[in-house]
Amino acid sequence: MKISVNKAHFPVTVLGPGRRIGVWLQGCSIGCKGCVSQDTWNRDPGRDMSVARLLSWCRQTSNSVLDGVTITGGEPFDQPQALAALLAGLAQWRSQEKLDFDILCYSGYALTTLRKKHAGLLQQLDALIPEPFVQARPLTQVWRGSSNQPLLPLSERGRQRYATQVDALAHGSDKRMQTMVDGDRVWYVGIPARGDMAALEASCQERGLAFSQVSWRS
Ligand code: SF4
Repeated sequence: MKISVNKAHFPVTVLGPGRRIGVWLQGCSIGCKGCVSQDTWNRDPGRDMSVARLLSWCRQTSNSVLDGVTITGGEPFDQPQALAALLAGLAQWRSQEKLDFDILCYSGYALTTLRKKHAGLLQQLDALIPEPFVQARPLTQVWRGSSNQPLLPLSERGRQRYATQVDALAHGSDKRMQTMVDGDRVWYVGIPARGDMAALEASCQERGLAFSQVSWRS
């Protein structure tokens, strides 16, 4: 089974609790205005890899010491079969090695749509952050880009780990971003506040670093 992946990283500490594997899937048909991840929108066959290879990378990179896996994008539910295979593989790894990591998934689809079309996939998750990003709604809650996006624990593990965060407001340290440098590419992980990316770009430019291409505008 092939899955289209934009990038993967460990440890991610800004998209869910603890030290997590982050997997960004490639391809999103939703197109929220103001999306900061527009590099994930296009389907790109060059980014296909086998689910088995991705799972093997997860095991090796984390050394099986992790608090969770965050799947985002892109739109994970635009690849439902690949997502199902990834979730099944993660569940198998967790149970075989008696690990206790949680699986959190983001989606830009409405919760009602996900419940109707992908109820089986939701059963494999510990927590879900659904609904599209709405630029006009403020960033108020931890791990969410706009205030219309709920955090829904979906399993007992999810309830134990996420219940206190469902209504938690994002404070200073919750708005941290991680920065990664990969050759001449710089990428950021986290939920930027409104205007953060433009401010970052201006600040870099003042120091003589110009971005030739950015993911937060087309
Ligand atoms: S915010 Fe998420 S769902 Fe919305 S366009 Fe961007 S990648 Fe797609």
